[in-house]
Amino acid sequence: MLHFSCDLCGQPLDDRRYVVRLEVFPAFDPEDLTEADLEADHLQEVAEELHEMEITGAELEDCNSKSFRFDLCPRCHGKYLKDPLGREALRRLNFSEN
Ligand SMILES: [Zn+2]
Repeated sequence: MLHFSCDLCGQPLDDRRYVVRLEVFPAFDPEDLTEADLEADHLQEVAEELHEMEITGAELEDCNSKSFRFDLCPRCHGKYLKDPLGREALRRLNFSEN
């Protein structure tokens, strides 16, 4: 039997388990942007940019969609629904720094 624990507080989960599924993806089409750039006469420039991206690897990864899956206990589920992006926690963190 599979045992789940809450991804927020670590508490073991029984049947009352909540699943959060998140998907993050670009709202624009990376393919379209690339094709438009390649049509222009600054092909060399773009090629260099692409080469740089290959080196860093960071920019291209941003174009991929990413999905996350979290298991939450009822208590954390309630907290998550009130603040899915953690904005409240971020605000508190900024406040305490001052
Ligand atoms: Zn929890």
